[in-house]
Amino acid sequence: MTKNMTIKHHLNEKLLMSYAAGILPEAFNLVVATQMSMSDEARARLASFEAIGGGILEDTNKEQMSPTAFQDVLLKINKTKPVKKYSASTMVEGVFPEPLKKYAGDELETVKWKSIGRGVKQAILKTDNKASARLLYIPAGTAMPNHSHNGLEMTLVLKGSFHDEKDQFKRGDIEIADQNLHHKPTASDDGPCICLVASDASLKFKSIIPRLLQPFFKI
Ligand code: ZN
Repeated sequence: MTKNMTIKHHLNEKLLMSYAAGILPEAFNLVVATQMSMSDEARARLASFEAIGGGILEDTNKEQMSPTAFQDVLLKINKTKPVKKYSASTMVEGVFPEPLKKYAGDELETVKWKSIGRGVKQAILKTDNKASARLLYIPAGTAMPNHSHNGLEMTLVLKGSFHDEKDQFKRGDIEIADQNLHHKPTASDDGPCICLVASDASLKFKSIIPRLLQPFFKI
């Protein structure tokens, strides 16, 4: 396993911005921080986006927003977790990157899996209740039930790979799913797929992100 991953599927700009602003629920923060720790490219994208985001804010402030609008938004945000930046020194070669170890333990072998049928296992991780995070173990060649999403779902591959109707996802890749995506993730035939999944079952969170980001993206 190489230290620096070549990742095909990255976060979108909206989520990068939300992460940088520290407004994502803990479960999503965990997924993003874990992916950041796996890839120089992911960190570079975040850094460049932070720079672009700063420019957008400056322009927006001049044209439409009051000078204190951004500060006002930040004040409204419950900043329970500061955004943490990961350097190359924090990257690891095992299945669990450093940010995940605080939640899942050091080793894959010590995870307390619970069977959810057909060989699929999951382990719920402890985060705040705005969204949930879990590890998912899918045996080789096994398909998850076809499903759609009530809210936002982020799936980061830690080991093996899976594919769905959309694409194929390998270690370090992240799939972002929302109400528009119906899919049936299936682990590849060559081995089990282990993923870190964060999802927001309620629609509440979904309305928060667009509302907070509206002034910045003029959407
Ligand atoms: Zn899904």
